Amino acid sequence: MDTTVPSKGIITHRHALHSNRRCRNRIRAGKAKSDIPIINLAPNWLFLPFVLLPRRQKYGHHTNSKMKLKIRTGFGYDVHQLQEGLDFWLGGIKIPHTHGALGHSDADVLIHVICDALLGAANMRDIGFHFSDKDPKYKGIDSKILLKEVVQLLAKEGYEIGNIDSTVCLQEPKVNPHIPTMKTCLAEVMGIPEEDISIKATTTEQLGFVGKKEGVAAYATVLIVKE
Ligand SMILES: [Zn+2]
Repeated sequence: MDTTVPSKGIITHRHALHSNRRCRNRIRAGKAKSDIPIINLAPNWLFLPFVLLPRRQKYGHHTNSKMKLKIRTGFGYDVHQLQEGLDFWLGGIKIPHTHGALGHSDADVLIHVICDALLGAANMRDIGFHFSDKDPKYKGIDSKILLKEVVQLLAKEGYEIGNIDSTVCLQEPKVNPHIPTMKTCLAEVMGIPEEDISIKATTTEQLGFVGKKEGVAAYATVLIVKE
């Protein structure tokens, strides 16, 4: 196998197979070092990541281990049936509607997902673990009381709330007009600024139990911080 670099202006049959102009130029200039096409084709800067990789890994590990101690995320999901004639509590406020959510407490689905997300972030189980739906003590309880207790449970472990993002899935009534009032209410309960609470709302385009107006669902993600 011929491994010599062709002299300037001479293109061997093997090198003529390389259609790439950069490769041909390198060979003409006498800079080609190998018969392996990919090496002839590759500019020097392409190998830079291999030189830098050990350093990047070292600093990446250092940063992750530090962040793991201070910042955690949590997720919550909940569903309640809708029934005619019940009060409809959502985001800490009563919304005028023909139907309300059914549950052992006031069935505030938005507060429940925020509680679950907060507890999940701190790895402290879920809302049912701390406030059993079998306990008569919690029958018809205002969910804002539960949320306040959850925030205190986290505070005992040194956690503060970073931010909350949530989505309510409801066919009707419209949730959007009530969102500013819900944010004000929840911010007061949790003792955090309104701008750290995001509440969104969506229908499910008449699909599923939400679309058929049989129930309400909600999702929340949170970020908690330990000082
Ligand atoms: Zn619930």
